[in-house]
This record gives sequence, C-alpha cells and structure tokens, in this order.
Amino acid sequence: MKLLENKIALITGASRGIGRSIAKQFADEGADIIFTDLVENENSQSLVEELKAKGVRATFIASDASKYEQAEAVAAQVAKEYGRLDILVNNAGITRDKLLLRMTPEDWDLVININLRSVFNYSKAFSPMMLKQRSGSIINISSIVGINGNAGQCNYSASKAGIIGFTRSLAKELGSRNIRCNAIAPGFIETPMTQQLGEEYRQSWLNQIPLHRGGSDADVAHVSLFLASELASYVTGQVIRCDGGLSI
Ligand code: NAP
Repeated sequence: MKLLENKIALITGASRGIGRSIAKQFADEGADIIFTDLVENENSQSLVEELKAKGVRATFIASDASKYEQAEAVAAQVAKEYGRLDILVNNAGITRDKLLLRMTPEDWDLVININLRSVFNYSKAFSPMMLKQRSGSIINISSIVGINGNAGQCNYSASKAGIIGFTRSLAKELGSRNIRCNAIAPGFIETPMTQQLGEEYRQSWLNQIPLHRGGSDADVAHVSLFLASELASYVTGQVIRCDGGLSI
C-alpha cells in the first residue's frame, strides 16, 4: 500500500522548485494532485503530463495565492471536481531581498502577501472542507530565516516567522477535528530561488552547513511526505528544520 493511496493533495506555487518535487513525490505515493501557480506555462504543462504518467489525476489551476477570492475559487473548483481535500501544502513564496534602509513599503507588502497572507487564504478556504471530513494535513513551508533572522531579509523572515505562529495557532484550533498543521523550515535549498544569489554569497552559506552541501528540493519533499502521511498521525504544531544542520 502506498503512503498516500486515495488521498487528494493541493500544492500552491508548484510548477517548479520545491513544490514541483513535492507534487511528484506525493503522486509516486498514490495521491491525486491539484497544483497552482500564477500563470500556465511550459513548467505547469509538463508537470501535469508527468503526474498523469504516474497514474494519478492531476489538475493545474492558474491562481494568485495572495488573493483570497482566488483561493476561494480554487476551493470551489476542488470541491466540484474532487469532492474533498486531504493534504494542503502552502508552498508559494518569493523573495525581495534588501537591507531595511532600501526596502520599500511595496517590497514589504508583496512578500508578506505572497508568503504569509497566502497561507491564511488557502487554510481558510480549505478548512471548512477538512472540518466536515474530520481529517486533514496542512503543511506550511516556512524557512530557517523565520527562526534565526537574516540581514537583507526583514520582509521574508517576518513572513516566514508569521507562518510559524500561524501554524501553531491553527494546530490548536483544528486538532480536535483530527486536522494536523505543521511547518517545514528549509535551510539553503538548491532551487531557482537560490540560484539567483551570487556565487560568493552562496559559498558563504554552504561553508556553514554541517552536512557540507545545499539541500535538494527532494530533501524538503521527503519531510513533506512524512507530514502528509499517517506516519505523522501524532505530529501537529511542529516546525521541522530541513537544513543540513545549518541552524544548530
Ligand atoms: P521557486 O523555485 O521560486 O518556486 C516558487 C513558486 O511559487 C514558483 O513556481 C512561483 O511561480 C510561485 N509563486 C510565486 N508567487 C506566486 C503567487 N502569488 N501565487 C502562486 N504561486 C506563486 O522557490 P522554491 O525555492 O521552490 O521555494 C518554495 C518555497 O520554499 C517558498 O515558500 C520558499 O520561501 C521556501 N523556501 C525556499 C528555500 C530555498 O533555499 N530555496 C529555503 C527556505 C524556504 P513563478 O514561477 O510564476 O514565479
């Protein structure tokens, strides 16, 4: 029996990077997949094909995770086409790194809305469905900089710290209905997000990691798989670091 047989999962911002890897691993374990991203493109089209080739249902929905009405529309579509949702992964996220002195109110709002408000949007839009089912697993992708902070990332680290407070609160609200809510705090993961960083900056991060390598999107997807599955049936309100020991 596969870990996610007969489960339905939704992952936000999953056309590439960590979200894409989560979608593929969940499908390998038998889950039907709905995933979102801002717009349809070659990445989203190829992911739908890859997922279907694994023998599961797959649906892409173009949607801006920072907009509540759009999250509600996604929930309505999922209710109509799939009838339930077992696993929600709030993964969509961006960076707009600058020192605070140079950070504009627009840089702040954009990052908070896409990284943190999106978690509120999707959790709120989908929790009535999970409450009715009396089961569910919500997984929020935070970051170790939400725990430790990082110069040049006041907006990003505040959004990721906010996700941790949200996760713990929601775990307390929904636990009695058998809905678990956990967060993952990845460290330095080799994805398009970190490929934008300069080589010197990248090396300075890598030198601080006890496992002496950047993480892969698959490393984060493995932790997501654990949290999504019944292997984590007694785990809620937790923040699991996936950082090669960077934050020890
Ligand atoms: P990524 O490769 O940049 O992927 C992020 C995805 O989110 C992209 O597909 C992007 O779409 C999508 N997205 C952006 N804005 C969106 C919106 N408003 N609505 C819906 N989708 C949107 O980044 P990643 O490295 O895989 O990151 C995934 C998550 O892990 C993020 O929450 C990130 O903060 C977190 N994280 C990453 C690292 C790391 O080292 N990479 C470390 C800690 C935490 P477009 O292609 O259209 O931009």
